[in-house]
Amino acid sequence: MLSSRMENLHPYVPGEQPKDRVYIKLNANENPYPPSPKVSKALRSAVKNHPEKLALYPDPDSNELKEAIADMLNKTGGVLCRANLEKGKKNGSGATVTPSEFDKIPFVVTPEMIYAGNGSDEVLSFVFYAFFDSAKKLVLPEHTYSFYPVYGGFYNIPLDKIPLKADWTLDKEAMLDAAKKENSSIIFANPNAPTSIGLTRDEVRAMLKAAPKDQVFVVDEAYVDFGGESCIPLLAEFPNLVIVRTSSKSLCGAGQRLGYLVANKELVQAVTTVKNSLNHFPIDFLAQQAGIAACRDAGYYVKAAQAVAFERDEFIDFLREKGWTVLDSQTNFVFCKKDGVNGDAAYKKIKEEGILVRHFATPGIEEYLRITIGTHEQMQALREIMEDM
Ligand SMILES: *Cc1c(COP(=O)(O)O)cnc(C)c1O
Repeated sequence: MLSSRMENLHPYVPGEQPKDRVYIKLNANENPYPPSPKVSKALRSAVKNHPEKLALYPDPDSNELKEAIADMLNKTGGVLCRANLEKGKKNGSGATVTPSEFDKIPFVVTPEMIYAGNGSDEVLSFVFYAFFDSAKKLVLPEHTYSFYPVYGGFYNIPLDKIPLKADWTLDKEAMLDAAKKENSSIIFANPNAPTSIGLTRDEVRAMLKAAPKDQVFVVDEAYVDFGGESCIPLLAEFPNLVIVRTSSKSLCGAGQRLGYLVANKELVQAVTTVKNSLNHFPIDFLAQQAGIAACRDAGYYVKAAQAVAFERDEFIDFLREKGWTVLDSQTNFVFCKKDGVNGDAAYKKIKEEGILVRHFATPGIEEYLRITIGTHEQMQALREIMEDM
């Protein structure tokens, strides 16, 4: 009964969501803070004042949302935790935001440069469909976001997985050599997952200079708002660059399912063509309202990203003091191990105590734990468990 295509499917396994008891969830890199109060208000008012909109199809191209996203990127420079907050309430809501000097984008991001979809997983799926071919291998790091190989199987795209270097950074030279072999595309997350380490913008620029110019080069910036370097400024130099981003991590919006990409408008058009051939109303009316309200209140998310980055650095200090090896993190999670501590056993012990973290049984990283940064209270609870591990 099954199509032969089904043989290529190896579905993604998300961080577990058990129902048997209430755990502190530090296993899916979600944001521990709720969205801006303005998001809740926009949702309440949409349902109360415009219930008829729920009976109608939403804007298929999410035009107002794309404007709000472009506007937010211009105001923040695409890295929330470094943006300047000029004034506002304690939680940052309503504050005026300007980009840090370092992150300032040297052109105006326009709505035509944005494609918005139902979570960046869907956006990535359309990127795979639009730009990668089964005739040649797609180049990616061996350890990176584990959905890329899933889509490779789904769309029958062969992969060339390049091992990371001994220090867990991307092997840029080996990736470029591999891409040149078959004139291939490259995809990676920056900062990368689950390692939490990022490349600088200059390093990505150097890669783009050496990579095939007539192939799309994809940088997934799911975590960049917590301290990485965004490649959005490089879009002016490299028309083959596609940057994928999400509201799930830094915009406290994993439940809303909103992702987007930033690229030159011809590439945005290509992804839009895929969307219009598959699911042409990808973002429901309420998610559009929530996303618009979130992007218009960047100040709140600047504060949230700064709070996460602060907790992260404190937690890294704690772990290192306790003898753990922790990679330098520019994300909202840490990747860590300790000599003599079995990764799986540590994960189970922490779970017994009521906290979920992520352990991958994948060869090469099985000693490590990936721990999402939560609130101060959540991290305090975890410190107590890990105190004598
Ligand atoms: C979380 C994550 C995504 C998926 O984000 P959604 O928008 O929730 O689908 C994509 N890429 C990376 C690297 C991620 O960590």
